[in-house]
Amino acid sequence: METNYDVIVIGAGPAGYEAAIRASQLGLKTACIDKSLGLDGKPVLGGTCLNWGCIPSKALLDASHKYVEAKDHFAEIGIKTGKVEIDVPAMIERKAAVVKQLTGGIASLFQGNGVDALAGTGKLLSGCNVEFSPHEGDAVVMEAEHVILAPGSVPVDIGAAPLDGDAIVDSTGALEFDAVPKRLGVIGAGVIGLELGSVWSRLGSEVVVLEALDEFLPMADDRVARDALKTFSKQGLDIRLGTRVIESVVGKKGVTIKYQDKDGDQTMEVDKLIVAVGRRPYTQGLLAPDSGVNLDERGFLYVNDLCATDAPNVYAVGDVVRGPMLAHKGMEEGIMVAERIAGHKPLVNYDCVPSVIYTHPEIAWVGKTEAELKASGEAYNVGQFPFAASGRAMAANDTDGFVKIIADAQTDRILGVHIIGLQASELIAQAVIAMEFDASAEDLGLTMFAHPTLGEAVHEAALGVSGNAIHMVNRKKK
Ligand code: FAD
Ligand code: AMP
Repeated sequence: METNYDVIVIGAGPAGYEAAIRASQLGLKTACIDKSLGLDGKPVLGGTCLNWGCIPSKALLDASHKYVEAKDHFAEIGIKTGKVEIDVPAMIERKAAVVKQLTGGIASLFQGNGVDALAGTGKLLSGCNVEFSPHEGDAVVMEAEHVILAPGSVPVDIGAAPLDGDAIVDSTGALEFDAVPKRLGVIGAGVIGLELGSVWSRLGSEVVVLEALDEFLPMADDRVARDALKTFSKQGLDIRLGTRVIESVVGKKGVTIKYQDKDGDQTMEVDKLIVAVGRRPYTQGLLAPDSGVNLDERGFLYVNDLCATDAPNVYAVGDVVRGPMLAHKGMEEGIMVAERIAGHKPLVNYDCVPSVIYTHPEIAWVGKTEAELKASGEAYNVGQFPFAASGRAMAANDTDGFVKIIADAQTDRILGVHIIGLQASELIAQAVIAMEFDASAEDLGLTMFAHPTLGEAVHEAALGVSGNAIHMVNRKKK
């Protein structure tokens, strides 16, 4: 087998596979090593995102949302249905088919771009040498001019809820339930806990979300978080804040959870428990002692702004390095590193990383929150527009939420955009583009948006920053 490469990438999740494809496109001889095995025991590309993360969770979120629409909302728009029923195994099978199509797509992209896909484990030795241990056969030492580490992350496990692979599961197990649990506990009201809790709640589970913090979605805009808590509670998610789980015991009738809240020790029973308390960088077996790569104090691979590690010509990208654990953040880092290796000079704009929660309504934001600006003493103006005043949202029978745009009080430059509502995940791209080009709220206000679209709410919020929205009565600006 070939053992000399310009670039060896370890990890074929979104950060690694994009780095590998871009490096190959730029004329660099590239191999990408990944050790993941799919449910059928065969090697799969795409990492967490395609196999156990973004894609399968969205397949189940979309399916369960359609079920709720058909069951509860079709009659409102004049569509009569018979009894609407769910078929969980069919839903899970369709999700698996979507995953298979996409992971197979990465294999074709590797082939089409000339990336060598190597199934097995990679370990960085000293001086850009990599030990490759295939799933079958002997290890070989390979040499590269440059190495890109993209080993990703794994779920955090806590002693208070040890996984047993059946009653107590992590996010991966929660994508594979073969029936709707009657009573479902979720530990952690973060993005993953809310998305998976929503899936099973929509399908009929009684869901209790136990969250240690007193504040709901502390990273989001205050008003967005408040509205979201109200809406999710109305949808049936029982979100208990200030609640720390201290023990979970699997018995014949399910899981007994002990937790503490402001009233003291409490107990509850559920049939299944999802542990969604965050993810940690995955570096097990990745580095030989003399690799020259260092970890930071939180266990992430230490890198500078350009994703260079402490070892010459060794880079690290994606969930394994500082910054938000988001697929698109890792993808941009992977592309940046590949291009820099090829002699180009792009940068990642870490001020413009969008965050999305794919609940219903969706929540999305980019840039600063009002709380952050207040804390740093920066003066700002706000424009806010409700979807209740959007013709397109009314036509779609889905008017929850609003768009908020925050702009610098002096320069009018857009500092943050916060959206809760239908298709917030798509709308936020408009804000990211505007911010990437350093737009002012006035620039966005002067831009023409097609009518009728949900995007008009972004336009109106931009106009609202200076008190000039048309389809609502503006509050007097001081
Ligand atoms: P990963 O995707 O984790 O891939 C790393 C790969 O490297 C894995 O295949 C691993 O097996 C392999 N590997 C590790 N070590 C070695 C080694 N030594 N040798 C060989 N191979 C190795 N993010 C979003 O942006 N949007 C979402 O909607 C979203 N939804 C999510 C939903 C869930 C349920 C979960 C769990 C995550 C979600 N995420 C989402 C997060 C997203 O999946 C991660 O941010 C993303 O996958 C990180 O990409 P990565 O390339 O850094 O690592
Ligand atoms: P995230 O890191 O966004 O995925 O969110 C994980 C959430 O889990 C955080 O908000 C934590 O506060 C919460 N969490 C962690 N440990 C516990 C615990 N033992 N009981 C309840 N919530 C927890």
